[in-house]
Amino acid sequence: PNYISVNKLSNLLNCRSEQLVEDLTGLGFANVTQNYILSREYVELILQEYNYELPASRRLLNAQTVYDELKSPINPRLLNKRPPVVTIMGHVDHGKTTIIDHLRKSSVVSQEHGGITQHIGAFQIVTPLSKRKITFLDTPGHAAFLKMRERGANITDIIVLVVSIEDSIMPQTIEAIKHAKNSGNETIIAITKIDKIKQPKERERALERITADLLVHDIQLEQVGGDVQVVPLSARSGENMDLLEESIILLSDVMDIRAEDSIKIAAEGWVLESQVKKSVGNVATVLLKKGCLQKGNILVCGNTYCKVRNLLDGAGRPVTKAMPSDAVEVLGWREVPEAGDQVVQAKNEAQAKKYNAKRVALLQVEEQAVNVERLNLERGIKK
Ligand code: GDP
Ligand code: MG
Repeated sequence: PNYISVNKLSNLLNCRSEQLVEDLTGLGFANVTQNYILSREYVELILQEYNYELPASRRLLNAQTVYDELKSPINPRLLNKRPPVVTIMGHVDHGKTTIIDHLRKSSVVSQEHGGITQHIGAFQIVTPLSKRKITFLDTPGHAAFLKMRERGANITDIIVLVVSIEDSIMPQTIEAIKHAKNSGNETIIAITKIDKIKQPKERERALERITADLLVHDIQLEQVGGDVQVVPLSARSGENMDLLEESIILLSDVMDIRAEDSIKIAAEGWVLESQVKKSVGNVATVLLKKGCLQKGNILVCGNTYCKVRNLLDGAGRPVTKAMPSDAVEVLGWREVPEAGDQVVQAKNEAQAKKYNAKRVALLQVEEQAVNVERLNLERGIKK
């Protein structure tokens, strides 16, 4: 079936339905109950979280694929280097926010703007030595990220996994390791709070312990002949933060991260955040994956479209264009697009409207299927 209740799914997964409800809420689902109906795309995600994998042939065609028709065919000649997109993960209190805050202060925008940055879900820095750009995604909103993964989007290139020198690996560290493995992202280990252990011998012992603990979870650091870089740092004092940045660049060079960045192809990206702003109307932060986005371009997203009225950077300043791995605020949406939805450039407004309509029609078909399933379920319960 393409739809299933939380109750039924918990039976299949052999877990308590209360537990599944709790897990789903943690994943960003709102108002989940045991009778909540999940569509196939969500079920696939949940199965992934529980380490189940469905055969690819059974995947549901989702309404988003309507926009695939607008995309440009891959043209290797247009591939150019782009900045890496980085997410910071790890156990609670191990120092993620402190690292982000430290990096934010050195961000391109805040340097030019005396530290005033808006929250747009991502920010960019230029590394101190190599003068290269890195895009950091901050506090990734759960539901939006789930949605992107569900659509096959892996918007992150590199995961910085933080491990506190005092605690070594903890339950959420292990979760993050699993996530990194499943998503196929490259990892860098940041050992945080090294300022807390000043005694060199003691510090060395703590680092050795973490190296061993990581090995148990199949993370092979350079110290033990593996290829995972490790950076012991203090986000509080700033010690080795530059080393972390350069390690990211080094890894991104090895990965040879590229995208087609020409105006000749249809731009593609993902909505990280969206909102209605009093002064400017509907706004979406778009992380650009390919193409070159400019004022006047037409974008489709979900059931709405946009004639790009303006592009703003993290300080709210207009920019003339956005390139791959840039995150920009896009103004001019008919309606607020949803976080986690894909954005694709259309040739003109007529084409955008046509594809919006196509998607709406497809969604209606899917919705009817939900209703039928819900009816069948109710009947089943009555029996
Ligand atoms: P998060 O939950 O992973 O985002 O962790 P936070 O960044 O909020 O850090 C948790 C606590 O550890 C806060 O009180 C921080 O001030 C502290 N902390 C984070 N990094 C460091 C560090 O490098 N050195 C020291 N001494 N404290 C740190
Ligand atoms: Mg935090």
